[in-house]
Amino acid sequence: MMPQPPADVPLLVAENLIKEYGATRALDGATLHVYAGEVLALLGSSGSGKSTLLHCLAGILPPDSGRVWYAGHDLATMPDTRRSELRRTEFGFVFQFGQLIPELSCLENVMLPLRLAGTRRREAARRASDLLERLEVADVADKRPGQVSGGQGQRVAVARSLVTRPRVIFADEPTGALDSLNGERVMQLFVAAARETGAAVVLVTHEARVAAYSDREAVVRDGRVREQERVR
Ligand code: ADP
Ligand code: MG
Repeated sequence: MMPQPPADVPLLVAENLIKEYGATRALDGATLHVYAGEVLALLGSSGSGKSTLLHCLAGILPPDSGRVWYAGHDLATMPDTRRSELRRTEFGFVFQFGQLIPELSCLENVMLPLRLAGTRRREAARRASDLLERLEVADVADKRPGQVSGGQGQRVAVARSLVTRPRVIFADEPTGALDSLNGERVMQLFVAAARETGAAVVLVTHEARVAAYSDREAVVRDGRVREQERVR
């Protein structure tokens, strides 16, 4: 595990990111600071660049220019193997469009990040089951993702993002398919991860009731970010 910066130094920094898809400039000088132990909500209208920013922050998508620093290390100059290891061991993801593995059961999907990190099957199953229970989807443990509802699949994906107790959780509209009670359960688990394990949670959302759980908000507009204190 990488040594962590002191609390007043950001864990993750995106600096002046530019990313283009053909003629579309998705990020146009985006700068963002993320601190350990905080829940940061990324807000902004559809097409403003939120998902692109999240993928660049997580080292999934390389920006055309600008830098992303994690615990003082430049993601772009890190060897590929190290960057993949980081994604596997220190980052957790909830993607906007599911991305559970269809051939595995829901329980096995949640166990997978632990199994890849070398955790024994029994211990991985115990931790995965515990999270499925807390998210009220223990009943779909043995089903394949194709056999469960969108909302159930989303909660399984949330369980998978939390199971390794990552340093950073990236969640792209993780409550979009959930009713308000289940949305609250998800947010309570993210807040608990921030408070109990000092995780940074970066979460894209449209919903005011979800953003209300955050410590801080940043608004993405035309590929740029306006960071702000939470308006209470
Ligand atoms: P948001 O998540 O805020 O809705 P995105 O980051 O998905 O925004 O998209 C930002 C802009 O980049 C939009 O104009 C979108 O159409 C465009 N875009 C995103 N991904 C792609 C892609 N893979 N290919 C082409 N254009 C893309
Ligand atoms: Mg998006």
